[in-house]
Amino acid sequence: LSQLFRPLDMLGMVYREIRQGLIDMEAMFRLVDTPAEVKDVPHAPPIAVTGGAVRFEDVRFAYDPERQILKGIDLDVKPGATLAVVGHSGAGKSTLARLLYRFYDVTGGRITIDGQDIAKVSQTSLREAIGIVPQDTVLFNDTIGYNIGYGREGATQDQIEGAARGAAIHDFILSLPQGYATPVGERGLKLSGGEKQRVAIARTLLKDPPVLILDEATSALDSRTEAGIQTTLRGVEAGRTTIVIAHRLSTIVHADEIVVLDAGQVIERGTHAGLLSQNGTYADLWRRQAHERELEEAS
Ligand code: ATP
Repeated sequence: LSQLFRPLDMLGMVYREIRQGLIDMEAMFRLVDTPAEVKDVPHAPPIAVTGGAVRFEDVRFAYDPERQILKGIDLDVKPGATLAVVGHSGAGKSTLARLLYRFYDVTGGRITIDGQDIAKVSQTSLREAIGIVPQDTVLFNDTIGYNIGYGREGATQDQIEGAARGAAIHDFILSLPQGYATPVGERGLKLSGGEKQRVAIARTLLKDPPVLILDEATSALDSRTEAGIQTTLRGVEAGRTTIVIAHRLSTIVHADEIVVLDAGQVIERGTHAGLLSQNGTYADLWRRQAHERELEEAS
C-alpha cells in the first residue's frame, strides 16, 4: 500500500514546493532572469536549523564566467542578529540574498546555516527556513485573507488574523466592506505600497522562519507609513537572524552589523556609530542621505 501512496506523497511534496517556491520567487526574483537550475545532491538531508547562524565563507559568484560579481565575501551573522548590507546599485547586495536562498550555487567558498553547507541540504527545507519580505509584493486575484494565508498551507482564520495583527493590518482589513473576504489584486481592491508590504509581513509571520531576508524597496513610502512599517519590521526581526538589504541608511541604524559592499567586496564593516567614526564611504553616504532627508522635510 505504501508503494501506492508514495507517488501521491511525492506529488503533494512537489505541489507544496512549487507553491512555496512561487510565493518566494514572486518576492525578490521577479526582475531576475530565470535562474540556472540548482539541484539537490543525491539524498540531500533536510537542514536542521537550531539557532539560525548564517555564515558566508569567502563566497565568490559570477552570473557569467566573464564577470565576477562577488569576489570573496565573509559574513558571520549570529543567531537572532541583524546584518544590514548597503552599497551602490549593482554592488551585489541582492545577489547575496539570492545565493542564501540558493537560487544559484556559489562558484567559490560556501554558505552555511548552523554549520550546514546550504548546497548539501534539500532546497525545500532550506526555503522553508528562510522568509523573504520583498521589495514589491505580488497579490493574487483573491481575497485579502487568502493572500495572507498563502504564507502557510492550511493556516486557520485565527492564525491569519494573528499574523495580520502582527503586521498591523488587521484593523485596516476590518474596515473594508467585506473584511477578510474582500477581493484584492488586479481585479479587486488595489492596495497601496505600504499595505502590500504589510501583507508580505503578515505572510512571513505565518511562515515563521528562523532566517529572514528583508529587501527594502528602493522607492520610499511617505515618511509616516515608512516609520510605521519599520516599527512593525523590528517586531518581525526579533528572535530571527535577519539580513536587510538596505537603501535608506536611516532604517538600519539598529543593525548589529552593517557591511558596505562595493563592486562585490566588503569595503567597510561595523556598527552605525563605528562606521560614522571611521569617516569613510558609509559616513559619506549617511551625510548625503541626511541632507536629502532635510531637503525633503523642508519641501
Ligand atoms: P540594486 O541596489 O540596484 O538592487 P544590487 O547591489 O542589489 O543593486 P545585484 O542585483 O546584486 O546588485 O547585481 C550585481 C551585479 O550583477 C549587477 O552588475 C547586475 O547587472 C548583475 N546581475 C544581476 N542579476 C543578473 C543576472 N540574472 N544575470 C547577469 N547579471 C546579473
